[in-house]
Amino acid sequence: MTADLHLHSSFSDGTDSPEELVRQAAVAGLKTIALTDHDTLAGLERAAAAGRAAGVEVIPGLELTTEQPRAEVHILGYFIDGDNQGLRETLARVRQGRIERIHKIVGKLKKLKVEIEPEEVMALSGQNSPGRPHVARALVRKGVVANFKEAFSRYLDVRAPAYVAHYRLPPAEAVRLVRQAGGIPVFAHPAVSNRDDLIPELIAAGLRGLEVYYPGYYADQIEYYLDLARKFGLLVTGGSDYHGADSGRELKLGEHTIPDELADKLRDEHLRGN
Ligand code: AMP
Ligand code: ZN
Ligand code: FE
Ligand code: FE
Repeated sequence: MTADLHLHSSFSDGTDSPEELVRQAAVAGLKTIALTDHDTLAGLERAAAAGRAAGVEVIPGLELTTEQPRAEVHILGYFIDGDNQGLRETLARVRQGRIERIHKIVGKLKKLKVEIEPEEVMALSGQNSPGRPHVARALVRKGVVANFKEAFSRYLDVRAPAYVAHYRLPPAEAVRLVRQAGGIPVFAHPAVSNRDDLIPELIAAGLRGLEVYYPGYYADQIEYYLDLARKFGLLVTGGSDYHGADSGRELKLGEHTIPDELADKLRDEHLRGN
């Protein structure tokens, strides 16, 4: 049996419902999954109920967007208490920032002669936690770009002309927020963020793990992050970052998994803390 600790549902920028994720996980023979939607807890109850019915363990999680110039620094939180007021309030602010950001992105696209309305993006988003993937899907749908990838490279990448920054939540603040909500903070896809220099500061804030296993990482990168985790006494996690069947990505749920022992260690850490 295996695990996947990084999944997105249609409550953020995935295209599958929480129930559909659990169904696919059960078919793929996964024992444990974590739902880690961007900046929202809205899918967690439904995922938990579906997991109970299907015999799949669903760890309540989230992926917090933090703001760093020209870098995507994301903090995963596992076993968070969804009722925590501080976390809920910050998430509401971040999501409000996401909605305002869609309007700014659309404004930048208009200046680039790409005519698209905020409503078209919001309609694809489930209204909850809209992001660039929803803009990308709207651009594909309108025929402005050939595919999802081109939407990012031409317009939406951190270095592309229609990029707009997020609400300003510093990474260390995100780590503290997860801890305050009783969760285990993990640095998501560090090789994507390319900000390993932040790790000591994040550990000081309460970071407990590194996402060492991630699609597309080279063997030497995995070795490097395994060493870092050992050196700093951090947990090792991993996941597929699956975004759904219609997300514009190739990867299927169950194609990128990690050994159960890693999920066991995460759970042990949670049980020790409580
Ligand atoms: P946002 O939360 O709006 O900043 O969008 C971030 C999401 O966009 C993440 O889930 C990424 O997986 C996705 N993303 C970021 N860069 C790219 C890219 N170059 N190609 C495809 N997806 C991307
Ligand atoms: Zn995403
Ligand atoms: Fe991420
Ligand atoms: Fe993700």
